[in-house]
Amino acid sequence: MISEKELAELSYAEAPQMISTGVPGPKTQKYIEVSTEYESMARGGGRYPLVMAEGKGATVKDPDGNVYIDITAGVAVNAVGRCHPRVIKAMKDQMDSLMHAVDVASVRRTELAQKVSSVMPPGLRDNCITYFAQSGSGAVETAVKFVRKITGRSQIAAFHGAYHGVFLGANSLTTGDQYRKGYGPFIPGVIHLPYPYCYRCCFGLEYPSCNLQCAQYVDYVLNTPYTGADDVGAVIIEAQQGEGGYVPTPPGYLAIVKKACEKHGALYISDEVQAGAGRTGKMWCIEHYGIEPDMVTWGKGMGGDVAMAGLSLRKDLAAKIVDGSQPNTFAANALSSVASMTNIDILTENDAALIKRAGVLGEEVSNQLREGAKDIEVIGDVRGKGLMIGIEMVEDKESRKPLNGDALGKIVMGLLQRGIVMVPCGRNGNVFRFMPPLVLTREHAAKAVDIFLETVKTV
Ligand code: PMP
Repeated sequence: MISEKELAELSYAEAPQMISTGVPGPKTQKYIEVSTEYESMARGGGRYPLVMAEGKGATVKDPDGNVYIDITAGVAVNAVGRCHPRVIKAMKDQMDSLMHAVDVASVRRTELAQKVSSVMPPGLRDNCITYFAQSGSGAVETAVKFVRKITGRSQIAAFHGAYHGVFLGANSLTTGDQYRKGYGPFIPGVIHLPYPYCYRCCFGLEYPSCNLQCAQYVDYVLNTPYTGADDVGAVIIEAQQGEGGYVPTPPGYLAIVKKACEKHGALYISDEVQAGAGRTGKMWCIEHYGIEPDMVTWGKGMGGDVAMAGLSLRKDLAAKIVDGSQPNTFAANALSSVASMTNIDILTENDAALIKRAGVLGEEVSNQLREGAKDIEVIGDVRGKGLMIGIEMVEDKESRKPLNGDALGKIVMGLLQRGIVMVPCGRNGNVFRFMPPLVLTREHAAKAVDIFLETVKTV
């Protein structure tokens, strides 16, 4: 058990506390102007009008001194919270001895590789080799190359609504007009299959009476000689979609997909970049489903305040990769390795108490949101596992038509003005995601839920 008092010390207790008249305040506004002039707005945060000056646990401050409750965790990155004192100490200690070691082994990097292996899901646990990267895109990119080399096959299957990154190979697996239109051609051989988005089933069916037609369809595509899926080396899937709208796969779905892979001789890659590192109440989202993946791509929360990501694959598969064929200058330097190790320790120690708490707190938050949504016509669905909760906004519960951009923008701004950092995702940009650092206190969680519901009602 982790005490709330212990967690409260990690964050600014006063959050939310708004000081400036108007948000963004004058100092923040100045930084926004400079940023817009000097930085590419192709970045993910786009024109979101927040500038972070300081961060502590599950709270952040802007240059005007406004203190916010952070319900984004840097897009699922700061699982143990921003600037965790133990991470800072470990990094400071490491700074005096070694930081960069280029792409060779270092003491810290070696220790990290071992630690990562020890926390992998069954099938890979203590039976995998890890390739380190600095981003989820880099991990997925590497997975694509490795799959080709290992299987000798050229095709890869991904899913509608998937987000696997934006490097050209990874981007070929990612869907969404803003990432694709005008940026092609992408790599050939990518097949996109329907994701089980039950709230908006593309077959117009309902779970469970649908008998998981979408999963049967994956089997059909992979195992029928007339679908063109004749050379599929791997299927890559998020057990709960992230950018695609915080959509968990329904029970039973992934087991059918995994079986289809086995029948067809394709590898199963679980992309855990967003759903992993304890966010869903288990270390890896796939662990909710009892599936053993052949490879896992991971990132975000495994590094926290440092850029750390990787691809972990079964040892027998890794044996087929050619030495020196995927160099990476900055991968897992000693400093980021020690930070990542400390993150993993904090997550997994005391029988993974922080992760288990994420499962319990997530359930409580989901229940509060569902209760509050009963009389709010524009909240269509509340779903997800642990602290990876999606709140789908609609014109009305009956039509399920996605809420328009205007109203969504007003909610985003209304939240920010009330001291809540919370951003939407999804195919229509209409799914608010509740993905705070796992160290968010119950008090801050309850405040954030109240403010969210109140903001939605006001707008
Ligand atoms: N895979 C998934 C599931 C993701 O959510 C993301 C990032 N949102 C990526 C891959 C890419 O990670 P990065 O932004 O670190 O390249």
